[in-house]
Amino acid sequence: MNSEHKKIKKLVTELYDIIKEATIKLEDIRKNCDHPEFTVEMFSWRVGSYYPSRICSICESSITGITKEEEQDCWDKHTKESKMYISSSYGK
Ligand SMILES: [Zn+2]
Repeated sequence: MNSEHKKIKKLVTELYDIIKEATIKLEDIRKNCDHPEFTVEMFSWRVGSYYPSRICSICESSITGITKEEEQDCWDKHTKESKMYISSSYGK
């Protein structure tokens, strides 16, 4: 490992720390949100798996209570260009 590699490795470690800190902040915001509004979107909780879910319009977390109709509408309008919402525990 040369000095350039060491610099990059240090930066990678710092970036992972930022991700970790941001994930904790995000989980805290989501825990305290009362989810007053939602849209129905595709939600992915792990790589390769996704399903229609109610997504809070404020904190963007997946919330419970989706109806069969909302689920079907979401599958019907789903395209490759649809935005995918992901779990904050993704990749853990
Ligand atoms: Zn919310």
